[in-house]
Amino acid sequence: AARASRGVQGLKAYDPGHDLVALRRKFGEERLLELGSNENPYGPSTAARMAILDQMQSLHRYPDPLGLDLKRALATLHGVDTGAILLGNGSHELLMQLAQVFAGPGDEVVYSQYGFAVFALATQCAGASARVVPARTRDRADMPLGHDLDAIAAAITPATRLVYVANPNNPTGTWFGVDALDAFLAKVPPEVIVVFDEAYAEMAVAPDYASALGRLGRHGNLVVTRTFSKAYGLAGLRVGYLLAAPGLVAVMERVRESFNVNGPALAACEAALDDAAHLDSCVRRNAVERDALAQALQRRGLRVFPSQTNFLLVEFGPQTALIESALVAQGVVLRPMGGYGLPDCLRITVGTADENQRLLAALDALLDLSD
Ligand code: PMP
Repeated sequence: AARASRGVQGLKAYDPGHDLVALRRKFGEERLLELGSNENPYGPSTAARMAILDQMQSLHRYPDPLGLDLKRALATLHGVDTGAILLGNGSHELLMQLAQVFAGPGDEVVYSQYGFAVFALATQCAGASARVVPARTRDRADMPLGHDLDAIAAAITPATRLVYVANPNNPTGTWFGVDALDAFLAKVPPEVIVVFDEAYAEMAVAPDYASALGRLGRHGNLVVTRTFSKAYGLAGLRVGYLLAAPGLVAVMERVRESFNVNGPALAACEAALDDAAHLDSCVRRNAVERDALAQALQRRGLRVFPSQTNFLLVEFGPQTALIESALVAQGVVLRPMGGYGLPDCLRITVGTADENQRLLAALDALLDLSD
């Protein structure tokens, strides 16, 4: 039999959770309430959809291997040179490539407990060793389950090559601000690459949230990853990007598959960047619906962890698994958290006002029954 590398031997293939294709067939796309994958319920900009139609004449052509038009648009948006940007087939691909390029057997990668699942996967695939740092405890009033940045910095050893931090984090929804960010960056040695996964950054509207983008010029070891999957509503196209010092990007370019972002995706993302009004409207509606849903769940006696994302982590207690499967049987899909070591919690994507009402009605029917 084929013998996998040491890192891959210990891995299981991605478990998509529920069979969404089968559930869509069973309930119909309209009736199935999909609140498990942190997608944008409003969808992408119309301009992005039209850009894809335009690409239909060119499907026999390879896309621009450099993705230069999209990079130029991103460079303008973020005030950097195109050489500071790398495009990926989703930010997932970039998170994997970072470990592939910068860590290997004998090296250490540091990340937080409850950190985004791909951090562990990338570390293992690279054959590196993980140092998982305990998160802030659940009983804390201030950002429970969030990253403990002091402990993360303290876990760095001479063997550490890479640190992953998600801000805001999935699945906890937690975040931190500029003082914590700067104090942390000051403690990370310059030879250690520090990756800020900012998949949900556009959605974070709290004044005490800070992106690491503003610190790129100051720290040559800093990498920021972003995605078109969340606030831009383009998860189906698989486009993410990273920003870092041009020298670091050039090293990453060596392992990138030449045509890793397809033509329709490049065109649609460029159009999406042009439609700032749509992004803004999605972000505003998400913030309103997130806070309304959090309050509605709290009124039902459930603990809701703080979130600056488009999802809520909610504590359902010992009945969690029962509630989750009863909801799926009715066509309501949430995300179980057992894999993250939070089996008494479910992660709920914030939907439209109507979707959130349907979720609450389904929950009310269930919670009454279990009394
Ligand atoms: N980072 C975080 C924190 C995420 O939650 C996700 C998606 N669930 C990703 C990265 C990857 O997203 P994508 O590959 O679609 O860009």
